[in-house]
Amino acid sequence: MHYVSTRGHSGRKQFCETLLEGLAPDGGLYVPETYPRVDDATLDAWRGMSYPRLAFEVLSLYVGDIPSADLRAICDKTYTPEIFGSPEIAPLRKLEAGLYLQGLSNGPTLAFKDMAMQLLGNLLEYELARRDEELNILGATSGDTGSAAEYAMRGKKGVRVFMLSPSGRMSAFQQAQMFSLQDENIHNIAIDGVFDDCQDIVKRVSSDLEFKQRYKIGAVNSINWARLLAQVVYYFHGYLQAIERRSAGASFTVPSGNFGNICAGHVARMMGLPISRLVLATNENDVLDEFFRTGVYRVRSRADTRETSSPSMDISKASNLERFVFDLLGRDARRTKSLFDNQLREQGAFDLGGDRRFQEAVTRFGFRSGKSTHADRLATIRDAWDRYSSMIDPHTADGVTVARMHSSPETPMIVLETALPIKFAATIREALGREPDRPARFDGIEDLPKRVKALPADAQAVKNYIAHIVQAS
Ligand SMILES: *Cc1c(COP(=O)(O)O)cnc(C)c1O
Repeated sequence: MHYVSTRGHSGRKQFCETLLEGLAPDGGLYVPETYPRVDDATLDAWRGMSYPRLAFEVLSLYVGDIPSADLRAICDKTYTPEIFGSPEIAPLRKLEAGLYLQGLSNGPTLAFKDMAMQLLGNLLEYELARRDEELNILGATSGDTGSAAEYAMRGKKGVRVFMLSPSGRMSAFQQAQMFSLQDENIHNIAIDGVFDDCQDIVKRVSSDLEFKQRYKIGAVNSINWARLLAQVVYYFHGYLQAIERRSAGASFTVPSGNFGNICAGHVARMMGLPISRLVLATNENDVLDEFFRTGVYRVRSRADTRETSSPSMDISKASNLERFVFDLLGRDARRTKSLFDNQLREQGAFDLGGDRRFQEAVTRFGFRSGKSTHADRLATIRDAWDRYSSMIDPHTADGVTVARMHSSPETPMIVLETALPIKFAATIREALGREPDRPARFDGIEDLPKRVKALPADAQAVKNYIAHIVQAS
């Protein structure tokens, strides 16, 4: 299996090359040359497999440059009940007839990003050791991504993490999750500024090519193909848990931000998994709902991006959408490049036309979309608590709200649970007038000693700090 860029660069890459490179040289995203098909007989054979075994089967279709025994060991080491809280790893929970939640948030940081990031950590450690290389991961976070990356890379050989966060702007729980890590290779940097300042610094440091090469700066953002691939696995796992009859369909609803999670659902569907609808849920930041309704993709400005009570979906643009648009356009790399490289840069938007052809194409790919607001979120959290005694987080609530707009009686609907309520206590208090449940292992986490370096919002200060740490070790 080889990978090509959505923008038509002539290079064909192996899996591990895309793992370390992230973005293709022409600024495009890596996609597999073809989607391997999984037929009914194979799907039957996968039924009842343990999660790590299923992960190995799916990954094997896409990874040509890691020996099978090694890949299997990596999957076994990643998806354990100790790390993910239960032998099912991604258990299905029935809310009512035909409506399920798939629990993807029982990993170390209580958000679904662990499902992919834990695998990425083990793949990176493996590949860096094989190449005898080092990597310094630089990132910016306002919550879930940074902690998932840190918990995935802690203690890993050959990797350091430098994670910028806006000082005093994460929830106390999220701060404690990150800053309580005492591992030598994890470096928390609290920037005197807002999240956008942190992101600007990362961009500035990464565009200093000399510094980047000298200090082996890399990223683990959601455009990495390996992260997407790891997420494909749980669509198969969720489907096989919900559906017993051969080739009957199931639908998924996905609380979405950067289009990473639901893009993995698209890949699973292209592989032949009988997904009838892929329902995309946004919050008030409805860039993607607008796209699927009208064909217009319009990147928002900072001023136009709202702070909501489902903050991990507060996006101004969706960095993984390019993969889907590439498929939507019949894999026309020239057109994809012209839309994402030229039109988006020059006009901040492109229009695929809300005409019948666009709508037909979107429908052929199974997509539907909808938007949820703060009031919907609160009402759905209350409703789930009253009717099912189930406490759900604000992002998952956006999913359940939108799932109800698109469910049909004959097809089971699986909503992906993207975080646990404890991460967003203020909204739970507002909805239910009580504290969220806290898994026992997080008792008192806010009182643990904190390991964090405070720096001004200045790229040079961050460079100096990285250089100092790398040279000292
Ligand atoms: C990251 C995140 C999302 C959005 O996922 P994408 O892959 O960016 O679409 C939704 N909910 C939670 C809790 C998240 O952390």
